[in-house]
Amino acid sequence: MSDQMTIPADLLPHDGRFGSGPSKVSSFQIEALRAAERTLLGTSHRQAPVRGVVRDVQEMLASFFSLPDGYEVVLGNGGSSLMWDAAAYSLVERRAQHCVQGEFGSKFAAATLGAPHLDPSSVRQADAGSLTLPELEDGVDVYAWAHNETSTGVISPVARVRGADDALMVVDGTSAAGGTELDVSQTDLYYFAPQKSFASDGGLWFALMSPAAIARIERIAASGRYIPAILSLEDAVVNSRQNQTLNTPAVATLVMMRAQLQWLLDQGGMAFAASRTADSASRLYSWAESSPVARPFVSQVAYRSPVVGTVDFDASVDTAALRSILRDNGVVDVDPYRKLGRNQIRVGMFPAVDPEDVSRLTASVDWVLAHLEP
Ligand SMILES: *Cc1c(COP(=O)(O)O)cnc(C)c1O
Repeated sequence: MSDQMTIPADLLPHDGRFGSGPSKVSSFQIEALRAAERTLLGTSHRQAPVRGVVRDVQEMLASFFSLPDGYEVVLGNGGSSLMWDAAAYSLVERRAQHCVQGEFGSKFAAATLGAPHLDPSSVRQADAGSLTLPELEDGVDVYAWAHNETSTGVISPVARVRGADDALMVVDGTSAAGGTELDVSQTDLYYFAPQKSFASDGGLWFALMSPAAIARIERIAASGRYIPAILSLEDAVVNSRQNQTLNTPAVATLVMMRAQLQWLLDQGGMAFAASRTADSASRLYSWAESSPVARPFVSQVAYRSPVVGTVDFDASVDTAALRSILRDNGVVDVDPYRKLGRNQIRVGMFPAVDPEDVSRLTASVDWVLAHLEP
């Protein structure tokens, strides 16, 4: 019976994509692909036209993030996940400290814990839906945490550990980058991928690297440690300075990302992006707070993510049926992170998402719940 339910068109979001990555791609990005059909797509990434796109993306990221002096925009293939292994080989000198708020933080911790050349990592574990902050610790040369933990919808402060001297601050910005405020000077290596706020496809990673991070990378590369080529951040730095990647990138991904960056910058850059996601988030959380059957999963208001919102439902609500009806009506990917195992919806609210559509999503949820009632 559930698949017969038709949500009234005047309630439905104009665009029903609320995924946390891949996330909504806008039609102007597809037009950018069309415009690139003969000049970029299907042409060599070693030649000037594609390198020009890489350079544009690097420059636009530098502008979007108001990159401090000496920082560089480095990129490579493999997505954000590759950075975890790359950091274990190319960045951590002896020992890392990880803050784990959820799945993504724990995967990075697993990468350094498994690296045979490193001392056992220090892992600070938070309960799902809460957070833990990095803390000064002897012998730690990399402090790692996620700016936004996408599996739980928790946003963390990004601030240097005081007294940490030469240690590097390595922050997973995958789902936060481009959708919220950031002071890059508080980080040494802030990495992300294009399929969240940059509304493109996955497969690449980007990192904003401080001079200290680059110096560390060069020192470790010169030390004789075995580093698989694909995990060499030194190779990535060298290639990025020439607007290239070690191996072939997805050209279409770069073209779509450039179009999104252009749009973000035209609209007002980081301040625009942050205010738009904050608008979406306030609509989602205030609806959840006033709902008799739902509530924000993250209880601390300050930790609630503006880009990935998680909403818990009473056990009496069949959210699997809810999500399936939404999907039948073209409203997709509001599923909770699979391993979190909660009676929940999770809503991607990256800048491409129209805040009005978040309101329409909540109205659609209310409508379905009213009609699911026996
Ligand atoms: C999506 C995501 C990742 C994984 O990105 P990939 O490009 O798929 O490797 C890592 N960390 C966070 C915080 C994410 O949101």
